[in-house]
Amino acid sequence: MNVRVVAPGKTRICPHCKTTILESASVCPGCHHHLRFDRNSNVESRAQPTFSALRVEGSFRNPAGVDSWEYSVVVSIRNDRGEEVARKVIGVGALDPRESRTVTLSVDVFAPRAPK
Ligand SMILES: [Zn+2]
Repeated sequence: MNVRVVAPGKTRICPHCKTTILESASVCPGCHHHLRFDRNSNVESRAQPTFSALRVEGSFRNPAGVDSWEYSVVVSIRNDRGEEVARKVIGVGALDPRESRTVTLSVDVFAPRAPK
């Protein structure tokens, strides 16, 4: 089957965690639940990640002997012209002395499968 199931970039809401995800996703990248489909398309034709474009990970730690810190984790996406097309505060919180957090950012790319 070489018919495109959905238009590129079309989104829907994950029924489990309510995150906006690609309609073509077979697994929610947010909560990792497998998704069922309303239409009579088979699971095989659904997009799987073709490659990982990037994965960045970093940690920060509040050393002992100072007051609690506050932090915010922000992700922004810019297009070819440098215009911001999305910006989201992923999480905020407090960091007590000797506590740390690790932040991981990953980008998966989905390319159409070659027709069989
Ligand atoms: Zn989900």
